Amino acid sequence: MKLARYEFGGQIDIGVVKDDGVIGLREVGFGYADMLELVRAGSGVLDDIRGRVAGEPAHHSPEDVRLLAPLRPGKYLAIGMNYARHVAEMGHAERPPHPYWFNKQTTCINGPYHAIEPGVTEMLDYEVELGVVIGRAAKGVRAAEALDYVFGYLVANDVSARDWQKHSPTFTMGKSFDTHGPIGPWIVTADEIPDPQNLDLRCFVNGELRQQSNTSNMSFSVAEQIKYLSTAFTLEPGDLLATGTPEGVGAGMDPPKFLKAGDVVRCEIDGIGAIENRVAG
Ligand code: MG
Repeated sequence: MKLARYEFGGQIDIGVVKDDGVIGLREVGFGYADMLELVRAGSGVLDDIRGRVAGEPAHHSPEDVRLLAPLRPGKYLAIGMNYARHVAEMGHAERPPHPYWFNKQTTCINGPYHAIEPGVTEMLDYEVELGVVIGRAAKGVRAAEALDYVFGYLVANDVSARDWQKHSPTFTMGKSFDTHGPIGPWIVTADEIPDPQNLDLRCFVNGELRQQSNTSNMSFSVAEQIKYLSTAFTLEPGDLLATGTPEGVGAGMDPPKFLKAGDVVRCEIDGIGAIENRVAG
């Protein structure tokens, strides 16, 4: 099931995306204020929703709604250096011994087709990543059971200000500019992605293929990431993980190819969808 947040007629709602359009959840009796509330309601409610939307004709055609970021997560954590060839292109000899985590401030969240504002950076870069939405509180979980804690998956662009990224070892500043967290276009519920370690992902800039890989190339799998994080602290429903980017980022090219005003960045993951954001300016 694809769960989206959208604007229609000046009102923001959440709904289910089907082939012929969107079914508003409010119209079929689910009065969740936002996606976070739905996620926190627990996975049992998904079966109720499936039952209610089955056979229901779409309320809105796709072109009539404006898709928004599916949710504003509680925590937005992102792993660095999680694909070997990306580690190499960034000039590192080997992968970090431990998963290399940083925070993206949740104010960076941006919609799937909304503009990316460069801000003051002169080294604006893109990173296509599989996004993981946590579905229930996870603390001290084993890798073997970690995927049971996943609510769903989305496409994320971990937009990066490379100059500001190097200001401090935490990466936080360069990873958290407003609008530098495009996500979407919806959340695909976990039941539709039985194996998150076998998904093709790609990034295009102005139609030029820049990144192409498969999530099987991750150094630390989604399950290992959840295990590691939950060893230290609780992952809560609605938290978002960006699971690393493969090779092909602008900073890794010789010479580097950073984004400029007017560029269009398209990130896509098979089985989930695509987001496309234009650089403002
Ligand atoms: Mg990244």
